[in-house]
Formats: sequence, C-alpha cells, structure tokens
Amino acid sequence: MRNYFFYKIFLPIIIWLINFKNTKKKYFILNKLINLNNKIVLNSQKNKARNVLILLPRCLQYFDCSHNIISSVENCKSCGKCKIKDIIKLSEKYCVNLKVAPGGSLAKVFIKQINPDYIIAVACWVELMLGIKEVYPYKVLAVANIIVNQPCINTDVKVEEIEDILQKIV
Ligand code: SF4
Repeated sequence: MRNYFFYKIFLPIIIWLINFKNTKKKYFILNKLINLNNKIVLNSQKNKARNVLILLPRCLQYFDCSHNIISSVENCKSCGKCKIKDIIKLSEKYCVNLKVAPGGSLAKVFIKQINPDYIIAVACWVELMLGIKEVYPYKVLAVANIIVNQPCINTDVKVEEIEDILQKIV
C-alpha cells in the first residue's frame, strides 16, 4: 500500500511539478527519485530473481550500425563500437533476457511478453522516471545512461552499474 502511494500518487505529482523547475534542479530531483526507487525495489526483494529483463534504449547502439538489434540482440556482430556487445556478454553470464526498445510502446510489449520479476532499465532520467511510473507494479531498477555529445544518439552506460545490480538480485 505504501509503495502504491509512492508510485501512483507521489511520483506523478512530482513528475508534473518538476516541469516547472530549471534543468539543473530537474535532474537533481530525478536523480534522487531514481535512487529512492532503486532502494525501495532492492529492499523489497525476498527471493533471488529468476526472470530478469535488461531493457536498453535504441540510442545506446552505434548510430551508423546497420544491424537490427531491436528484432533480436543476436543480430549484433560484436564489433565493439558500442556497449551493446558488452551488455550481451553480461546477459549471457547471468542468464537474463536482453531487449532493445526504441520507445515506451515496444518496451511495454517486451515486458508483457517476458513478464519479468525485475527489469533493469537503462535510459535517460526523464524516460526512466516515466517508465517506472507507467509499468508499476513491475519492479524497475534504473540505470541512467550517459549523454556523450547529444541526447538520443550514441549514448553510453557504465556496464559495471548494470552488473552491480545483477549481482544483488540474481
Ligand atoms: S557492437 Fe553490435 S550493435 Fe554495437 S555497433 Fe557493433 S554490431 Fe552494432
């Protein structure tokens, strides 16, 4: 019930309110909320997760890569131009599902298909926060991606942050 209040009432209000803040304050608040969400999710864990989904944004893929990793990450040729290669290795090491979604609609389709105990979601802060709210009561552990030059193209992520979460839940 406490979690329901946090995700369904408190979070939507805060997300609406931060629209009126400047970018710096907005990201500061989003960062705090995401950390709080991750703490709530990890603290609520009773058993080891059996079915985990790592959900990545399309912008992590090297922009000029022609391989369709949205239909299947197995289409990645592991050239190393982006972190997709390393995250595939990680998903194999921990035996977890891995999907790349270009947007929220397809992300929801993957979530419905896989029905995971936990989702490790990588995205920008705003997308993460909206996603966490949208897919509740699914448990989302959020990892913010890194904007390298411009948003939504050739973004980066600290793979060790994803592995750190996997070590805690799997
Ligand atoms: S690592 Fe995979 S997804 Fe990334 S650029 Fe190379 S082939 Fe494409």
